[in-house]
Amino acid sequence: MEDREHKALQSTIAIYPGSFDPITMGHVDLIVRLADFYQEIIVLVANSMHKSYMFTSEERKKLVKESLPNQHNVRVADFDGLTVDYARKAGAKVILRGLRAVADFEYEFAMANMNRKLAPEIETKIVFTRPEYSFVSSRMVKEVALCGGTLKELVPQPVVQALQSKIYRSR
Ligand code: ADP
Repeated sequence: MEDREHKALQSTIAIYPGSFDPITMGHVDLIVRLADFYQEIIVLVANSMHKSYMFTSEERKKLVKESLPNQHNVRVADFDGLTVDYARKAGAKVILRGLRAVADFEYEFAMANMNRKLAPEIETKIVFTRPEYSFVSSRMVKEVALCGGTLKELVPQPVVQALQSKIYRSR
């Protein structure tokens, strides 16, 4: 990337929306890799009434914060409306999303196009996952945790503890 382009991005706010139920090493890796390119990344924790989550939005936000202790230009918020509405209010010009495999493509492509229709001035940027995290999803991590498998290298340490205590309390 050219210096000029890098400097322009450094005055740009980006939103990284998702469920983060819970945050995984794949999410963390994407945020850490991208943080330097933006003035600020807002991790936007979805709080949809139509979805059921293992962790409350407060718990999910807390886990995002605890998993990124040294990332000073990363902020965490939650929202139950359209991502583009939040982005407009926050003055964000970019929506970041991750792509793990072909299976993610259709959904991400449809969502990027819908967001472009709703807010043409906001650009979705798709970031490829590192191969070592390409199979890591919040859903898989929860299944591994429920079955007592090791979560090392799949989720940050605060998430390991949160998953264990959530599962212990529900038994
Ligand atoms: P959603 O329910 O919106 O898909 P997720 O928390 O599952 O929320 O994912 C948020 C974003 O992060 C999505 O773009 C997803 O593709 C991406 N993502 C999920 N897992 C990973 C991973 N292992 N590496 C990089 N990006 C990921």
